[in-house]
Parts: sequence; structure tokens; C-alpha cells
Amino acid sequence: MRPAIFFDCDGVLNEEPGGHGVLGPDDVHLIPGAGQAVRTARDAGYLAIIVTNRAQVAKGFVTLAGLEGIFARLRDLLSRDGGIVDAIYFCPHHPERTPGGAPDFQIACECRKPGTLLFRRAVADFDIDVGRSVLIGDSLRDIGAGRAMGLKCYGVRTGFACRDVERYPDRTPPQADQMFADVGEAVAFCVSHPAKHGQAGQPD
Ligand SMILES: [Mg+2]
Ligand SMILES: [Zn+2]
Repeated sequence: MRPAIFFDCDGVLNEEPGGHGVLGPDDVHLIPGAGQAVRTARDAGYLAIIVTNRAQVAKGFVTLAGLEGIFARLRDLLSRDGGIVDAIYFCPHHPERTPGGAPDFQIACECRKPGTLLFRRAVADFDIDVGRSVLIGDSLRDIGAGRAMGLKCYGVRTGFACRDVERYPDRTPPQADQMFADVGEAVAFCVSHPAKHGQAGQPD
């Protein structure tokens, strides 16, 4: 079994553009050091798995084919610095029925973070050692999902910087185990502190 680093995408590996998010390949701009961070993770024996909410599909802003183009650009940019991504798991859903959306994807699902289905799929597909695995995210939704999976949860100060507390108006938001300036710093810490944790996660 191998450990994994689960990376959120926008705000962690590439810039979070705000607004409706990344809508095409030209919106993908790497956060400096992201490719090297993915490379460092894999060199240390971690699988590099991206887990990303893509509600733009449900909202009708991006097609599944368009999403492939976005991910191809991201993989290409990361690989220029030696960062090879093992897999990308995405949630195309959103629970709201908005006009102009794609009805097939406008559902309440279990894969949209803080749901954990994307993570559970990855764990099954790659026989991942959850107890040695880590999540790196910029949103409290990422942290919530990582918590529910029992992962070590690291936040970054890029993107939403884990300050999106408005998503948790009526309860205490999940908290990162530790905060880092960016993904490069977070991965550097992961690989130099590979202690086995494996504590039971608190459901988000
Ligand atoms: Mg993000
Ligand atoms: Zn979903």
C-alpha cells in the first residue's frame, strides 16, 4: 500500500480565478512551485491524486469535454517541472437547479467535497494507505472532506486560504492541522514529517 497526497486543484496547484472559476485551458495558471511540489511528493513515494469539485459542469459553464481540456493543460504545465499526476477525480455535480444548467448533473451527490466519495474511489483504485495520507486544500470544504476521511489536513494560504467560513454559518468550521504559505511548503513538510497518524477522522 502507498500513501497519497490528495491535492485540491484551484487555489492549490493553480490560481483560483474567482467568479465562476476555471472555464477553459487559458484560465489555468500554476501557482509558483506547484509542479516541483508534485514531483517532490512522488519522489518521496506518495501518489499524487487531484480531487476537485467542478460545479461548472452542472451549472452549464463547462462541458465534460471542456473539462478534459482544462485537466490536460494542468497536467502539461505541472509536468514541465517534473510533476506527474497519478489521477484526477472530479465531481461535476451541484445540488441547485439553476437555469441554463445541465440537469443530469444538478443533483445532491456524495462526491462533491466535503463529501468523500472521490477520495473513497481513489483509495479503492490505488489501494491507498489512508493512515499515511495527507490532504492539501485551500477551502474549508477540502478540510472537511479530509477530516471525514481521517487524513492529515494541511491548508495553504493561497486561493481561499481556508478563510471561507461563510460556508459554515451555523456550526464550527473544520480546521486544518497546520497552515502553510503554499503547496510547495506544505509538501516539503509532508515529506520531512512522514509520521503515521491514522487517527479516526471526525465527520464534517
Ligand atoms: Mg480550491
Ligand atoms: Zn458529485
